[in-house]
Amino acid sequence: MLEASRRWRREGLSIGLVPTMGALHAGHMSLVAKACSDNDMVVVSVFVNPIQFGPREDLERYPSSPDRDLELLTKAGVDAVYVPTAAAMYPPGASSRVRVGRVAEPLEGSLRPGHFEGVATVVAKLLNATQPDRAYFGQKDAQQVAVVKRLALDLDTGVEICVCPTVREANGLALSSRNAYLGPHERKAAASLSLSLRWAAEAYAKGEQDQSRLRRGILDILEAEPLAKVAYAELVDPETFGAPGTLAVLAVWIGKTRLIDNHDLAQPFPG
Ligand code: AMP
Repeated sequence: MLEASRRWRREGLSIGLVPTMGALHAGHMSLVAKACSDNDMVVVSVFVNPIQFGPREDLERYPSSPDRDLELLTKAGVDAVYVPTAAAMYPPGASSRVRVGRVAEPLEGSLRPGHFEGVATVVAKLLNATQPDRAYFGQKDAQQVAVVKRLALDLDTGVEICVCPTVREANGLALSSRNAYLGPHERKAAASLSLSLRWAAEAYAKGEQDQSRLRRGILDILEAEPLAKVAYAELVDPETFGAPGTLAVLAVWIGKTRLIDNHDLAQPFPG
């Protein structure tokens, strides 16, 4: 990959990178479309990064649809699809890891130990391998966005981190590869995440600024859903991920599936 990227750079072409773990959906494709409109050349990486999964997580059964992914990316007109193997990314002896620090510590960072170290390491490697001007990430993974922005700045990458809005289904459910795990009843229950965020954005717009009442209202909606079990629901600052703030962030188990979602309450909820 590095050879092609170096050649494009020598030719003065701009490069956009969209990192993904495959099982592509309209959320991923919105990042791809933005990358295509902003850059001369677009690289999409498809790599299920083993080091960002915990030992009891879903690495083994993570959804995969390589043929369909390639078809979607070809249709979208991307210039390269980078699909490294785990053995090529982490050969015997590889031991370097990127640790981002504070912003990676709360919430996802504390409930998924090692997760952001895995994410930061693979993102640093992908940036080095593809030499992009811009890299595209979804607001859906809000803490990942904050971690990647910090990393890009702290490591002097010079890469512009572009954040694209969360793509949702008609009922508000944020698109996610993990939605494939949900049965029909669970799918309905999963709408409680976006329902609670919508309620909070509306309450905030009507003047409710009390963090604990907003949080309580979100929890009331989630806890009313029998299939949902809340891992966290917090209001944090979108850059530091410390409290207080207007970014409502959720992680909720729907049966055996862990879903995340978020919304900045200072913005109207879409749809
Ligand atoms: P993943 O394949 O889940 O690692 O996601 C790859 C990229 O797509 C990440 O930057 C995600 O934040 C982004 N993404 C995932 N779901 C959505 C969505 N519903 N809307 C926008 N971006 C998304």
